[in-house]
Amino acid sequence: MSVTAQSVWNNCLEFIKDNIQPQAYKTWFEPIKAVKLTDNSLSIQVPSKFFYEWLEEHYVKILKVSLTKELGESAKLVYIIKMENTYGNKQPFTEKIPSSNRGAVKSQDVDIPLNNKSPELRNPFVIPGIRNVKIESQLNPNYSFENFLEGDSNRLARSAGLAVAAKPGGTSFNPLLIFGGVGLGKTHLAHAIGVDIKDKYPEKTVLYISAEKFTQQYIDAVKKNNRNDFIHFYQIIDVLIIDDVQFLSGKTGTQDVFFHIFNHLHQNGKQVVLTSDKAPVDMQDIEQRLLSRFKWGLSAELQNPDFETRVSILKNKLYRDGVEMPDDIIEYVAKNIKTNVRELEGAIISLIAQSSFNKKEITLDLARIIVEKFVKNTKREVSIDYIQKVVSDYFQMDVDTLQSKTRKRHIVQARQLAMFFAKKFTKASLASIGSQIGKRDHATVLHACKTVDNLSSTDKQFRKYVEDISKKLSV
Ligand code: ADP
Ligand code: MG
Repeated sequence: MSVTAQSVWNNCLEFIKDNIQPQAYKTWFEPIKAVKLTDNSLSIQVPSKFFYEWLEEHYVKILKVSLTKELGESAKLVYIIKMENTYGNKQPFTEKIPSSNRGAVKSQDVDIPLNNKSPELRNPFVIPGIRNVKIESQLNPNYSFENFLEGDSNRLARSAGLAVAAKPGGTSFNPLLIFGGVGLGKTHLAHAIGVDIKDKYPEKTVLYISAEKFTQQYIDAVKKNNRNDFIHFYQIIDVLIIDDVQFLSGKTGTQDVFFHIFNHLHQNGKQVVLTSDKAPVDMQDIEQRLLSRFKWGLSAELQNPDFETRVSILKNKLYRDGVEMPDDIIEYVAKNIKTNVRELEGAIISLIAQSSFNKKEITLDLARIIVEKFVKNTKREVSIDYIQKVVSDYFQMDVDTLQSKTRKRHIVQARQLAMFFAKKFTKASLASIGSQIGKRDHATVLHACKTVDNLSSTDKQFRKYVEDISKKLSV
């Protein structure tokens, strides 16, 4: 029997079918057509770019395993994107993309001599058993500046990122600390800086790593008595990007080693980029000496994008996916999902998926159902304004009184309670809470939180206030 694209693909499908959920198989594999087989390369046709991205994101491993089984180690997969009559596509078009094998190792960056010259220098990225692995930047090329839409909410951080990328280590933004809430684009921007630097300076060693992975590597290094190798490895990097440094909270060993690495890089004019979900003043359990380093460069905040920016983010995403959607639907989604770009995109992806797989038209009603799911799943964040209103109502005063400069005890207490709940129920920084509750500074807010803690454990009446207001805020 001769080997054809169809027969190879059928065998792959059999294997895949046994290994994933039937629903997922139906959704993601049944619509694929095998179109061509040349040497070791199988071309498959998928219905949209979104479809291709989804496969690469979620099923690249199983595709690789099954294809290797059929065609050997040098097997290649090529996607052909063909859009036919799905809702809203402009023209049917095709585009060929080779499987990126995300997660596998791309050879670039520097060569670490593993066995010859300096056998003691180990690369923490080496997977045991695989030799001669090079340092990979671990960058996601899809996170580019081009795709990171500009708005008032991110202008400072984005421009600083561009400046750093143009002259890594050569600006006063070193380190560049990008901070902001969940889903606002910290990781995206951090990657974009790295991707742009690799583009402009291919010889530079760029490394992106999450603080969590960094910590894990450090723990492993200590276990294996490789602490020095670990430090040494990080000290040869030109651009070090560490994501979510708040993860280092309370981890003194890792903070200590990072401190040394940071100093070495900084002294040698190397660029450090950090992200965090908090401003430096609000980071807890991070050593002072490290915090003071964080403040050497620039801290730039990513804020919630305004409506216009949300709309342009969605339009850009749809454009990249080659999908058209009526403006009123885009606007509906942008109006209702405000504080998290990831969810904004998630809602749109669900909409596209729903419509293209169930062959439903994208309507406002469908949008409503999907948005509702997203909004329901994310616990609504109470606003600081709302907290002030609830607290003032509870004490039968108006918000102006609560915010006033008076030292009258019951008013001071109400104000402190408002600050305490703002800290507890919102992601706002101490400084931002202070500025919204009567223009106080972050130290005042911190003091208020401590006072409320103390009083509620010593004063019964006060504890009752806390409990009552808590209840009002959580319904
Ligand atoms: P964070 O790390 O802050 O939690 P991410 O960087 O993971 O957030 O961003 C979440 C999603 O939102 C990503 O898919 C990212 O591409 C997208 N995103 C965030 N901000 C923007 C923006 N300004 N333009 C385009 N996409 C954005
Ligand atoms: Mg992130």
